[in-house]
Amino acid sequence: MLKYANYNIVFQEVPDEVTLAINITNCPNHCPHCHSKYLWEDTGTVLDQRELDDLVAKYRPGITCVCFMGGDIAPQDVANLAQHLKSQHHGLHVGWYSGKNELPKAFNDEVFDYIKLGRFDENCGPLDSPTTNQRMMKRLADGRVKDITEWFRRNKHVQFEMESNKEQAEKEIEKAPTPPSSDNR
Ligand code: SF4
Repeated sequence: MLKYANYNIVFQEVPDEVTLAINITNCPNHCPHCHSKYLWEDTGTVLDQRELDDLVAKYRPGITCVCFMGGDIAPQDVANLAQHLKSQHHGLHVGWYSGKNELPKAFNDEVFDYIKLGRFDENCGPLDSPTTNQRMMKRLADGRVKDITEWFRRNKHVQFEMESNKEQAEKEIEKAPTPPSSDNR
């Protein structure tokens, strides 16, 4: 069972997307230089289909993507929620930030438009570092998977400008009309 601590609307974690990033707890990776140790605890709100639908309804149509930040404790649960988003919220892209270096064995990654792989290693740096050990993969329209890690380094200055405008953009998203929920509850 997945739980989450909090969420943010972010602009730089997934290229060219306005992303609802959900911070999942009970992280099993325990990277030595972890910047979010509060996510190691098994605490937070249960993240099931209903909770996810409520979060999406709150921010759609302002968001273009939902990204699960973590969830390595139960990858299949992450994939199931991704599948739910694809079937119930058409047009919404779905990403996953895993802290593992590889995908789990026999794992169906086709439900994700983006997957970030790689433990956080302070010596290598994050995605926008030229020496990063992490990789961001994007599934293209024809089904091929492309390594787009380079985007983060090329757009580092753009990300800084976007960050400065983040507060205003978040206000605009909050003001966006809320559509009726797409589920059948
Ligand atoms: S995967 Fe992320 S949250 Fe988990 S230990 Fe590593 S840096 Fe921390």
